[in-house]
Amino acid sequence: MERRETEDQKYNVAVVGGGPAGMMAAIKAAEAGAKTILIEKNARLGKKLLLSGNGRCNLSNAEVDLRKLTSRYGKNGSFLYHALSVFGPKEAVSFFKEIGIETKAEKTRKIFPVSGKAEDVLNALIKELKRKKVFILRGAEAEDIVCEKGLIKKIVLNIGEISADKYIFCTGGRSYPSTGSDGKAFELIKKTGHSVKNLEPALVPVETKEKWTKALQGVALGDARIIIRQFGKKIKTSKGGLLFTHFGLSGPVILNQSRLIGELLKSGEVKISIDISPSLSCEQIENIIKGGVKSRPNEKLKNFLADFMPRKMALVMIGTIDLDPNKEAGSLSKEQKKKIAFLLKRIDLTVFSLLGFDMAMATAGGVLLKEIDDKTMRSKIINNLFFAGEIIDIDGETGGFNLQNCWSTGHLAGQSAVSF
Ligand SMILES: Cc1cc2nc3c(=O)[nH]c(=O)nc-3n(C[C@H](O)[C@H](O)[C@H](O)COP(=O)(O)OP(=O)(O)OC[C@H]3O[C@@H](n4cnc5c(N)ncnc54)[C@H](O)[C@@H]3O)c2cc1C
Repeated sequence: MERRETEDQKYNVAVVGGGPAGMMAAIKAAEAGAKTILIEKNARLGKKLLLSGNGRCNLSNAEVDLRKLTSRYGKNGSFLYHALSVFGPKEAVSFFKEIGIETKAEKTRKIFPVSGKAEDVLNALIKELKRKKVFILRGAEAEDIVCEKGLIKKIVLNIGEISADKYIFCTGGRSYPSTGSDGKAFELIKKTGHSVKNLEPALVPVETKEKWTKALQGVALGDARIIIRQFGKKIKTSKGGLLFTHFGLSGPVILNQSRLIGELLKSGEVKISIDISPSLSCEQIENIIKGGVKSRPNEKLKNFLADFMPRKMALVMIGTIDLDPNKEAGSLSKEQKKKIAFLLKRIDLTVFSLLGFDMAMATAGGVLLKEIDDKTMRSKIINNLFFAGEIIDIDGETGGFNLQNCWSTGHLAGQSAVSF
């Protein structure tokens, strides 16, 4: 049964933030014998976890190579080397199995619960918290931190005060603030002397200057190649799922490059070229078109192009190259066939901006890594303070990497808070 605690309680470990990282940290601290309290400002735990993977919860990734795994977190990934080697995807899968969640890895290596429900993952974590006798305090917001002689003495909540020997902050980043992680907790962290690296939306869709994407809203390309260009120079090529939206572009291939796009935008205009036929060269496409025109000369262009791209897209794309969708394939000039072939290899869009934190799946920036010990997740500034999850300056690609960060750092922080 859940218990509400009062101010005069003293704990060994107080975990602030009841998201995935906080729940894991609290379970591990309690498992190691600590009297543990988990403090969450919302009326329920794990609001963001419930949204993850479109409600299916892509909780980890089946990448086993540690170096490849850390590379999925960009240049800060090496910070996670220890946490992932102690409690990586394999350990996370075993942990979830032990608490009653069977998982499966899909072809893409994304790991999901077999039930396909984030709610099952959350319920299993809550059950485990209760089994480990973690005190869960909901509707309680940490509003202040009181430090004395280089240690946190207590935290002031909206409903009282809590003191503990050790504190683990797992208050998340700034993305999807409606879930509770609105970034306000960073102000508290700064009070302890920590620095916070600039917070930026990460894994975020792109708004384009061209408005024709609106007509393609919902059209998904399973395997597109994008080339990011700036000042006419190729900066990065990447492949994966792409989604057209009413404002521009989304889908894994865009989300995963949004950090780079955000960086580039600071110095000037950014273009994205989409190659919808990455496995074919321009020449091969031209030959396929020539063959098609020969065998089906009376076919209308809109139907002819639907062999190469979703029908809805064919109609819109013909408009962008000023051709009549009802034109017969056989009447296409050499020049027009070239134009079509080019379209299948390169559709250019200009980035207007990245969408903001409201639509970002993660936050880039956070508590500076050089102020945290990567072997323990302990603060290098305050001896009884630990961090886990998205609060730290780590953000991963889509594919289960962000939740894996929570399990790995949560595990490490929870155990270390008891042993150090
Ligand atoms: C729509 C969406 C889908 C996603 N899908 C996936 C996915 O499929 N796979 C994946 O790996 N990642 C996914 N992510 C990212 C992943 O959900 C996050 O990285 C993860 O939830 C971060 O966990 P956390 O515990 O660090 O922080 P959060 O989940 O943000 O939890 C922090 C908690 O702290 C609480 N809190 C904040 N301030 C205070 C305070 N002062 N006092 C008390 N409590 C406080 C908040 O209310 C919140 O509950 C998704 C994100 C979004 C937005």
